[in-house]
Amino acid sequence: MAEPDGQNMRVGLPAHAIEVGPDPLARPTRNSVGGWPFLDEDQKWPDCFCGERMVLFFQLDIPSDLEPFSGDHLLLFHCRAHNDASDPQMTDGRLVPRYWDAPQPPYPRPFWRVLLQREATLPAAEPEPSLRALPLTLRPFTDVPAEGLGAQTFKVGGAPSWAQFPEYYQCACGTELVYVCQVPEDMEFAVRPGQPEQPYSVGADTYGLFLGNEVYLLACPAHCDPAAVWPVNQN
Ligand SMILES: [Zn+2]
Ligand SMILES: [Zn+2]
Repeated sequence: MAEPDGQNMRVGLPAHAIEVGPDPLARPTRNSVGGWPFLDEDQKWPDCFCGERMVLFFQLDIPSDLEPFSGDHLLLFHCRAHNDASDPQMTDGRLVPRYWDAPQPPYPRPFWRVLLQREATLPAAEPEPSLRALPLTLRPFTDVPAEGLGAQTFKVGGAPSWAQFPEYYQCACGTELVYVCQVPEDMEFAVRPGQPEQPYSVGADTYGLFLGNEVYLLACPAHCDPAAVWPVNQN
């Protein structure tokens, strides 16, 4: 990446816009809202501390032009019953050890789980029961940050469109986390009929993430753990 050398310098970054297709999926697909999670063989479907199995909101293969995560399979799980904002817990200037499992006051653990899987070859036997399974299409574009901010859209790669001041975090392993994916504010995910409502959600027939905050996923490029991803929330 070039060094900034003036007010108007703009560096285009490889990115892929993520589009949600309209036609329900009938079979496992690697890039999907809901659907059949592709997990590493030793990785179980995550449960929330409240006992509910977490909802698979979306999953996708990170495209080959997006180092250092290219080839990883990204999955975002979030509890239906717990709808809140993330709150970074730090110690010695880093996220706390095993922050993906650590207390998230007032909760004993996080109510979400973001995974980067590297050996995810097989889909789960059953699809996510609560969300409509829909295909995701990734369309490459060049994200040209304006005044340091990338495009405000559902995307993987590019630059975050920070709603507030940029946030940077050091992983518990000492590596600086790197931005990988953004989910826009108030994005709603369609639920199947007959599902319980989500507290504080916008619609009775949709679920959302992190109280509707915009989500910027920062992940550990050292891959110190499949769950070493921090979801920054802003609005
Ligand atoms: Zn929960
Ligand atoms: Zn790490």
